[in-house]
Amino acid sequence: MATTSLDLGKVRNIGIMAHIDAGKTTTTERILFYTGVSYKIGETHEGSATMDWMEQEQERGITITSAATTCHWPLENVDHTINIIDTPGHVDFTVEVERSLRVLDGAVTVFDGVAGVEPQSETVWRQADRYGVPRICFVNKLDRTGAEFHRCVEMISDRLGAQPLVMQLPIGAESDFQGVVDLVTMKALVWSAEATKGEMYDTVDIPATHTEAAEEWRGKLLEAVAENDEELMELYLEGQEPSVEQLYAAVRRITIASGKGDGTTVTPVFCGTAFKNKGVQPLLDAVVRYLPSPLDVEAIEGHDPKDAEQVIARKPSDEEPLAALAFKIMSDPHLGKLTFVRVYSGRLESGTQVLNSVKGKKERIGKIYRMHANKREEIESVGAGDIVAVMGLKQTTTGETLSDDKNPVILESMDFPAPVIQVA
Ligand code: GDP
Repeated sequence: MATTSLDLGKVRNIGIMAHIDAGKTTTTERILFYTGVSYKIGETHEGSATMDWMEQEQERGITITSAATTCHWPLENVDHTINIIDTPGHVDFTVEVERSLRVLDGAVTVFDGVAGVEPQSETVWRQADRYGVPRICFVNKLDRTGAEFHRCVEMISDRLGAQPLVMQLPIGAESDFQGVVDLVTMKALVWSAEATKGEMYDTVDIPATHTEAAEEWRGKLLEAVAENDEELMELYLEGQEPSVEQLYAAVRRITIASGKGDGTTVTPVFCGTAFKNKGVQPLLDAVVRYLPSPLDVEAIEGHDPKDAEQVIARKPSDEEPLAALAFKIMSDPHLGKLTFVRVYSGRLESGTQVLNSVKGKKERIGKIYRMHANKREEIESVGAGDIVAVMGLKQTTTGETLSDDKNPVILESMDFPAPVIQVA
């Protein structure tokens, strides 16, 4: 059985947030589909097996049914683990939404390309601001009549008060939407008619019709990045073109730093249509490229159970004493009660005793599972930064901390604001 010690730098704990109907479910399903496909390709090296799996999954429909689902995405042939934390769809139940925001390190905000920024997009955006969650944006439904990418970008700026970094331009509009111009690599990514079967896109030269707009928007992107990043500013002032790698690194620094909650949130913006399978793979690349890993979150603060004034900081390391937050309890049809936890520091091991520091009671850790879209994987122990489901916890409820017996800490203070009631 696996004892996983993940390479923390290659982990992304993310949420997907949206106004209802913007396409959160569809985008999540496509992410699970594409990551499942690529995972399978990596395992079998056999096209036919992949096709079988895809067809089966398409028939069944892949739906996220778990509070946290683990998937894998290779970026430049390096495997990354993405834990997708289900953020509740209803935005009026603040404690639950905020608790899920607390356990993720970054988020993808999905917008409807026709409706743009909607009331619930504003609500979730403000909540993410409050919790300092770095974000990237996906303007979805560009295949729909009336969809306008640039109007949505303006709304991100006007309504949300954010600074959008336009990373892509759409090629074609509405039913003729074909792909995107990538403003970092200055290439066009186009999806063929077979895209619906899960095919990757083709990387081609930017069509002549789009070269002028691409140059103009690349100029705006470089300027905006330089304005927010000293390293790029130096290159910019020297009149030097940053390399692709330098630009990736600068956008990553900006996205992570601006998510900390002070000042304007700077957010890279991508586009496509999840339903028509265009744009999701580059979005996954962007998740890995720009959103933080648990290592980017320097330390989490909690307090001493005996003295709420005594602040205790825990680093994201397996070497630290255990501190894990239970954030969701679900009933699984096969396994029964499952408690989803995020381990912030130390290791959580099956069969050991830990302390529920809020209740002051010992708990025995039963089986530990990593939940995938199409299977669950039992693991023996899990390290800092990871998110898993635990069986057998009798006393622990959501919001409570499991910690090392001798080094107790309480991670979550329960001073949540009163629920915000949405009036439609
Ligand atoms: P959620 O409420 O945000 O989870 O939205 P869903 O993913 O359930 O999508 C709402 C509706 O929009 C569904 O009927 C989807 O099929 C549709 N939809 C989602 N993405 C797209 C898209 O890219 N283009 C079009 N035309 N429809 C979409």
